[in-house]
Amino acid sequence: MSYKNFPMVSRVIFGRGSFNQLSEIIEPKRLNTNAPFIFFVDDVFKGNAWLMSRIPLSYQDKVIYVSANEEPKTEQIDQLVEDIILTFKERPSGIIGIGGGCLLDIAKAVSIMLNNDGESKDYQGWDLVKNPAVYHVGVPTISGTGAEVSRTTILTGPERKLGINSDYTPFDQVILDPELTKDVPKDQWFYTGMDCYVHCIESLNGTYLNTFSKTYGEKALELCKDIFLNNTLSVEESQDKLMMASWHGGMSIAYSQVGVCHALSYGLSYLLGIKHGIGNCIVFNHLEDYYPEGVALFKQMKETHNITLPQGVCADLSDKDFDVMIKVALSLEPLWENAIGKNWKKTITPETLKALYQKM
Ligand code: NAD
Ligand code: ZN
Repeated sequence: MSYKNFPMVSRVIFGRGSFNQLSEIIEPKRLNTNAPFIFFVDDVFKGNAWLMSRIPLSYQDKVIYVSANEEPKTEQIDQLVEDIILTFKERPSGIIGIGGGCLLDIAKAVSIMLNNDGESKDYQGWDLVKNPAVYHVGVPTISGTGAEVSRTTILTGPERKLGINSDYTPFDQVILDPELTKDVPKDQWFYTGMDCYVHCIESLNGTYLNTFSKTYGEKALELCKDIFLNNTLSVEESQDKLMMASWHGGMSIAYSQVGVCHALSYGLSYLLGIKHGIGNCIVFNHLEDYYPEGVALFKQMKETHNITLPQGVCADLSDKDFDVMIKVALSLEPLWENAIGKNWKKTITPETLKALYQKM
């Protein structure tokens, strides 16, 4: 048996207000005055002096606002990389992503592509990246995806939605400042928080589970129950705990995999552009055959917070549309193997998936 040797985030700072230390953290990494720091910031923060005034800009440093309305695409990454190469005399000293999973994934992908030839679609998959990425820093402003800690950056390419999974993907530095999540809208808080919950359920119920993943998954699940079902927590406690739940949930899948919900949700996202958090909620709501206890608890959480999910998202789709989603979902073999086992193809057929999609 040969075990995988995983990299982790090398440095992390946690605490309310720790974002104020951004300058002292990154400044020693400045290569020279022509090598800028590029800050990719969710455009929801445009004009937000509370956050923006704390981003330290010197020399050629630049803020680039990016919308998180759509999930990152390979073309978008290639364009951002080209713009940086054409604009600056030197490669950046560092790339800093400030936002949710979208912005964190953009920062990771751009930092990889600045040091690797070709197009980002060529690196979608496992361990295809050859050169180390530019120094990159992640600052989550919404909690749940685990993108701050994971070894992947999820991109939608011309052929598939798949991550660039590599040893060079994890951040060199993460800043966990739960205060940054204070203005997240309630529904979005729930959807992205449920991504974390689903990571725990899929990891803890998967065949890839080992003690490393289990310990992280159990802690994250305990935190999720506390956050989403215990209404005695203060707002601050809830923000702090969800930020750490996201971290632990992400760590739990590092050595394991996600499962049925993520496979189906990738299909929805690829065809319909439905975003990850809400997509997972739409799918997970119908997975009682696969995760009976997890789904029951999910429904309880949904009721507690008065969340209404979209219905009938697949109602008007053609057979061809279903085939596209089914193809995307079935191509994610490690997810199915984790969820069902080595013989997953015996029970997971295009018909099984179509019946599930038709319920959504
Ligand atoms: P997001 O980046 O999609 O943002 C969701 C919404 O919240 C956006 O409208 C954004 O503007 C808003 N928002 C973020 N922070 C805010 C704040 N502090 N105040 C107000 N609004 C705020 O959110 P997400 O759910 O964290 O990320 C989803 C993305 O993450 C998807 O692209 C998915 O593929 C990716 N993902 C990546 C990994 C990974 O390991 N790399 C894991 C899971 C999901
Ligand atoms: Zn997820």
